[in-house]
Amino acid sequence: MMLNTTKTTWTDTWGQPLTLAGCWQCDGVFLLPPQRPLTICPYCGQESLDALDTAVDRPVYTQPPELLLPFTITDVNIQENLAQFAKKTWFAPADLSPQNLLARLQPIYLPLWLVDANAQATWQAEMGYNYQVVSHKEAFQSGQWRTQEVRETRIRWEPRLGRLNRHYDNQMAPALEEQRLLELALGTYQLNGIRPYRPDDLIQAAAHLPNRPPADAWTEARESLKKIAAEECRQAAAADHIREFRWTADFDAQNWTQLLLPLYTTFYHDDESRVHMVFMNGQNGNLRGQRRASMQKARRWAILIGSSAVVIFVISLLLALLGHFREAMLPWAGAGLTIALLVGVTAVLPLLAAWYVNRFGHFYDDGQQALAELTNVAWKAGEQPPV
Ligand SMILES: [Zn+2]
Repeated sequence: MMLNTTKTTWTDTWGQPLTLAGCWQCDGVFLLPPQRPLTICPYCGQESLDALDTAVDRPVYTQPPELLLPFTITDVNIQENLAQFAKKTWFAPADLSPQNLLARLQPIYLPLWLVDANAQATWQAEMGYNYQVVSHKEAFQSGQWRTQEVRETRIRWEPRLGRLNRHYDNQMAPALEEQRLLELALGTYQLNGIRPYRPDDLIQAAAHLPNRPPADAWTEARESLKKIAAEECRQAAAADHIREFRWTADFDAQNWTQLLLPLYTTFYHDDESRVHMVFMNGQNGNLRGQRRASMQKARRWAILIGSSAVVIFVISLLLALLGHFREAMLPWAGAGLTIALLVGVTAVLPLLAAWYVNRFGHFYDDGQQALAELTNVAWKAGEQPPV
């Protein structure tokens, strides 16, 4: 669809006077809400968005969505999740506070395709059926031989083939290249609660436009349909297992629907004023954020602990001098020196912990790793990712 005058046409199609903007860093193309001017990219944190023109910049897909999954996480849960994130980041930079995260919270919708299709296929597979083998084992117990029954489950494989003629509804297919990483970071969205899109959904929230058109996403949808078909064939054959499933399928009556998924993004700055993103699933509240520790804060703790060690050391030396005159002081001096040594050694721990967070923070779990990769995707324009 060719749009001539952006302002009127977004109102015509999406029902709101939205602004089309793009980010040079993450290549994201967004429709921005009329009542919420954005100062940074809501997706990767880059500091300015460029106004785009549909006719010149040709986004991959600009049609309005048919369906939407609303934000359902409560305000209380949002605040709790942000507070937990700030609290659990070791030596968090001063800017990483629940208040800042909340004030910068931006709702954004991400696109997902749902596809319906008719499939006519011939298939073949090996179906596995469990069966029990009973054998007996002689064992010497309590002074006599006893016979024990041993049951073992084995699988009998049988070749099968057949035809399949079936309609599939609402098969999910990625509308964003980074869909897999988003799911790893934020969990899968549950599709119950879907409703038709309404223009007022975008009064406050931004929308990320698809970067994969239906034709491109069909490859994944087809693979998912194959898995579903294999499972249906297994059930139809009343088999316990299936392997080597192959099919030759024709599809028709494809119907593509765009669904918007709710996401909150926010950010904080580290010691060097670099932006770090925090993502929260708008349905179940799953939160993933880039962890960054403040070396300044860790250094202050190290100095504090180190100074305590020096103070204890000096007091111990004084006690040792006194020990020349009163021998009873000498054990105290010895204990003091040991404590000073132990405290002195622990002074490096804050530095080590902060270094660990900055170096390996994204290895906390699979979701952290996915977010790190997601930002690597985002930072592909030659910038160093802040992980
Ligand atoms: Zn961006």
